[in-house]
Amino acid sequence: MTLTMNTQCPFCSVQCKMTVEIAPGEARQRSGFQATGVPNAASEGRLCVKGMNAHQHASSRDRLLYPLVRKNGELVRASWEEALDTVAARFSAIQEAYGRDAVGVYGGGSLTNETAYALGKFARVALRSRYIDYNGRFCMSAAASAGVKTFGIDRGLTNQLSEIPLAECIILAGTNIAECQPTLMPYFIRAKENGAFIIVIDPRATATAELADLHLQVKPGTDSALVSGMLKVILDENLIDSAFIQSRTTNFDQLKADLLRIDLEGIAELTGVSVEQIRAAAVTYAKAGTGMVFTARGVEQHADGHMAVRNFLNMVLATGKIGREGCGYGAVTGQGNGQGGREHGQKADQLPGYRSIENENDRAFVAKVWGIPPEELPGKGVSAYEMMELVYKEQIKALFVMGSNPVVSNPHASMVEEGIRKLDFLVVADMFLSETAKYADIVLPVTSYMENEGTLTNLEGRVLLREAARPAPGETLHDWQILCSVAERLGRGTYFPFKDAEEIFNELRKASQGGIADYFGITYERLRREEGIYWPCPSTDHPGTGRLFERSFAHSDGLARFQTVPVASQGEETDGEYPLIMTNGRVLPHYLTGVQTRRSPVLAAKFVESFMEIHPLTARKHRIEDGALVRVSSKRGTVTVRSRYSDKIREDTVFIPMHWGDAQNVNLATNPELDPYCKMPDFKVSAVRVRPLAEE
Ligand code: SF4
Repeated sequence: MTLTMNTQCPFCSVQCKMTVEIAPGEARQRSGFQATGVPNAASEGRLCVKGMNAHQHASSRDRLLYPLVRKNGELVRASWEEALDTVAARFSAIQEAYGRDAVGVYGGGSLTNETAYALGKFARVALRSRYIDYNGRFCMSAAASAGVKTFGIDRGLTNQLSEIPLAECIILAGTNIAECQPTLMPYFIRAKENGAFIIVIDPRATATAELADLHLQVKPGTDSALVSGMLKVILDENLIDSAFIQSRTTNFDQLKADLLRIDLEGIAELTGVSVEQIRAAAVTYAKAGTGMVFTARGVEQHADGHMAVRNFLNMVLATGKIGREGCGYGAVTGQGNGQGGREHGQKADQLPGYRSIENENDRAFVAKVWGIPPEELPGKGVSAYEMMELVYKEQIKALFVMGSNPVVSNPHASMVEEGIRKLDFLVVADMFLSETAKYADIVLPVTSYMENEGTLTNLEGRVLLREAARPAPGETLHDWQILCSVAERLGRGTYFPFKDAEEIFNELRKASQGGIADYFGITYERLRREEGIYWPCPSTDHPGTGRLFERSFAHSDGLARFQTVPVASQGEETDGEYPLIMTNGRVLPHYLTGVQTRRSPVLAAKFVESFMEIHPLTARKHRIEDGALVRVSSKRGTVTVRSRYSDKIREDTVFIPMHWGDAQNVNLATNPELDPYCKMPDFKVSAVRVRPLAEE
């Protein structure tokens, strides 16, 4: 009999709902599956190629089905009892010898809200270590911190997706939605059919840029300077919304004084975008009756990504395009639970509900929910990359990695890999033997999206319940079950009494109550009945909040903050030795470091290896043939990939996707300089040289 399962695609922040039909006898095979989108979801029934084939990795023969323990240098099968006893004993011994902070925890933005919450609590209550952070630091931290500073709140989209077709002008900056969140494209196509003018800001003529009425092919790292130019035009032509600025914001005068000093010709030279194009973009956006601005990693993954996003928000505020229908801002999250993953305590500086770990009231509130004295709560830790530096310096001696692959995803990957090898003890919970898991002392097999019930919060801030669609295969456990079992062995089981994901969610609701991300009114029962609920949702009779900031912003005075932003190019300067800019990003069939999508035959076949996109004129200058193996080197290291000619990229820039490890790992060469506000590394601009492999 054909089995029909309801589930949710794990591969991006849209979280498309779907049904998967499995032909008789095919449950462990990779064929015999049929995935179909569910019409009432954010994606309106659409699925992209990743969603249609997600079941392949979940049913892969590479799935880890039982715990592995390293013995005589080899990872060998072990019982859960042996594996978990060893984890607890080694963590305890290391903490006894070196102190509690000698053990760190590294989470992921694809974990469910329940696991993210349990992981934050595990680090602080079971291990009592200050060191926890997660790979979302590399995803959303710039936009998140900018949203908190400007609006007083961080939610990916300030509006519902359904409002996109109502916008008369849309700016898509550093976001390649056509490849990263493909099922969202019809919203933008519908806007265009309604007459919207679409502006794409990107160094590459991406698939998304094909939709643009105006493509600003900006030099990497100069998005913020470009916005300063646009703001200058908006101010000079008196296209600001004075009434909105006066009644809803503060600090505009300071920004205005700075803008008056800006030289538009200088901005054009810095950004590579002509004055005419800057003017056209600024005037079109400002004059439109409604408008929306979207940013993603192209704007955010810089050592001053926080300020770059704040400049886009300056433009949104200056034109009064927020808090009403068809007007707003969206940080287009990448990871499956990029939004929820950052709200519930995996971040070094945050407690559940987006509460601050440095605020006494917030600490006391969460400590009470957890049943511990506030003084027992550890303080603020450090960001993901800074944790890797502490690992390298051997200050962190043991690491617990859950749902992440830091050996590939961190910048300066060779340093990170060396640090991981130096650890006294590494535990990795994963579905596969990832590049990081290969170095582990203990590998713990976990359930996939098909087997693990829990909530995820999509890019709109809409909380969705993903039900388990089939039993856990082999001896796999849910991530949160592993955390509870280790906590029990550490003598802290009384704080982890959870029998199922819903019990964790109910505690999360209490811990988030009254916080920025307030989930208190959201219950599993409601989520089963409704089509997802937008936070903040402070009570069980509250409908949720689809559109933010209609009457006030979330700062205590209700006003949004303008921020002056210096006009400068972001990132490492090129020179005679490293004359080109290397930038990176995604390709359609792959997700994050590719641990899952490289194990889906259909997805893997679409891109079997990484590549370097290079303009033919640049390639010839550097004696690079199309399709030749090349060495791309920065001051940090060298990536070896195959060249791919494209006239869709700027002549001063090369592009390498981020989904491969080992010699193809783009992060061997990326720049680890961190943004001082959010600790985002400067992934998007690295000075490099390119050489044919044959010449090395
Ligand atoms: Fe939907 Fe994203 Fe999955 Fe594609 S990858 S099916 S857009 S959730």
